[in-house]
Amino acid sequence: MHCNQNFMNLEQWCEIDESIYVADSDERYKQYAGLRHSESTIKNLAEIKNQNARLFLETFDEPRELYLTALENIADSSTKELELKLFNLRNQKIVSTKHRFGSSHVNWSTWRQFNNLQKDDSKRKQVFDEFISKTKYISPVIKKRFDSMGLAYGKYSSKQIDPLEGYLENERVSYSEMIKFVKSLGQQAKKPFRESLETISKKLLGREADYYDDFYFFRNKVYSDFGTDFAKVDPPAQVRRTLKALQFNLAPIQIDTENRKEKYPSPICFFVKVPTDIRVLYKSESPYFDLQGCYHEMGHAAHAASIDPSLEYWNRYGFSMGIAEIFSIFLERLTKNSRYLSSIGIKDKGLLEDLEQRNNFIELFFVTFYAANSLMKAEFWRRRLSMEKASDLYAKLIKEYTGFELPGEYWMLHHILPDAIMYVPSYMLAAVRATELDLHLRNHYGENWWDVPESGKRVRDIMSPGAKIDLAEFSKMDSSLFMKEITATT
Ligand SMILES: [Zn+2]
Repeated sequence: MHCNQNFMNLEQWCEIDESIYVADSDERYKQYAGLRHSESTIKNLAEIKNQNARLFLETFDEPRELYLTALENIADSSTKELELKLFNLRNQKIVSTKHRFGSSHVNWSTWRQFNNLQKDDSKRKQVFDEFISKTKYISPVIKKRFDSMGLAYGKYSSKQIDPLEGYLENERVSYSEMIKFVKSLGQQAKKPFRESLETISKKLLGREADYYDDFYFFRNKVYSDFGTDFAKVDPPAQVRRTLKALQFNLAPIQIDTENRKEKYPSPICFFVKVPTDIRVLYKSESPYFDLQGCYHEMGHAAHAASIDPSLEYWNRYGFSMGIAEIFSIFLERLTKNSRYLSSIGIKDKGLLEDLEQRNNFIELFFVTFYAANSLMKAEFWRRRLSMEKASDLYAKLIKEYTGFELPGEYWMLHHILPDAIMYVPSYMLAAVRATELDLHLRNHYGENWWDVPESGKRVRDIMSPGAKIDLAEFSKMDSSLFMKEITATT
């Protein structure tokens, strides 16, 4: 079926594909920015993208990066309708009958905001329990969408790759390596997490934590008393100053800070054209959260803007999430670094110690929660679990790693687990690598490496090969460093 005599050369295909990609990113950027955009253009471009991905698979077997992306694009676009259905069901069916947020009943989209503002714990619990019972409305759609994705991979891949295998190959890890890595992190974090949860819950809630006090509730709650100290920092201006001192080329990076009504609430980065057109959207929310988010997205932007423009199409764009997130987490780490924070004017020692303790708690929560998330999703694909089995396993894993007695259906209410093929382990891989990159710079340029322009050059040398990045230059995938850091008690 795959003839060697290609009627189209790869360069031509890449040029077409990049043009589609650029047009699509530009349109989606406008949508997220709350600017005038066309939904039909977005739909049409998705269709063209799908066709071009099929053209690739009919014509070429190589390069592997494009092969895997083509499969993912087809699986994604052929399940667009189910994705939309899930999106709508979540807002129409996952709705509280009793409690309101603003002028309407709390629904899946306003759930987190409701949790952050609601002072009455029993009301949060009621909404939580009701939403769990209403997962029955979305469960069949989630299952159907994942099954269809599996079918698309089976239909279009020559050697019958399944979505999990595609993900792992893109991340350049084997199944057993990934499982071993995730389990080891989770096991190490278990005990210190529970200890720290006990202390923090008593301090912030005045009681023991319960199952409805989830990761997203704590992630907000834990920083709620740091507002005023960080109010004097202007995140976009400060991160630009730091990147400029490290001699990054900021010309390709646009930061939009305007406050439009329809603008996406969290900061987000668009690689519209790599490396010449990178755009960050940013909307101020709460001071410390803003600082973290802004540094994170600017880490993505600095990475994309530093990629060698002469590289092939697939090497400029084809890096995995486990690579992309290294540089965002790496830059975000500065907002958790006491030395760096005091260099930008946050000097209160007590505050910095408190902040470090809270950050470590959130990291431990992240590791235990994401370990359970990753292991369930891997098993879901491996054993083709039914939704009931998946939820049972999820409850078991959450109990094992975090200690919470959480109803297993919770995973369907998460914002990544029922949507993405895998995605969650990539954050864990990247968090370990970002710690190693930080250490690499400290070893070569000193504790205050951000003051040394050569360290910026070193980072750019690591970034510039895009998907051809040589991780071995700074990473051995040694998680002990990261674990030591987050289990340290101040
Ligand atoms: Zn990111």
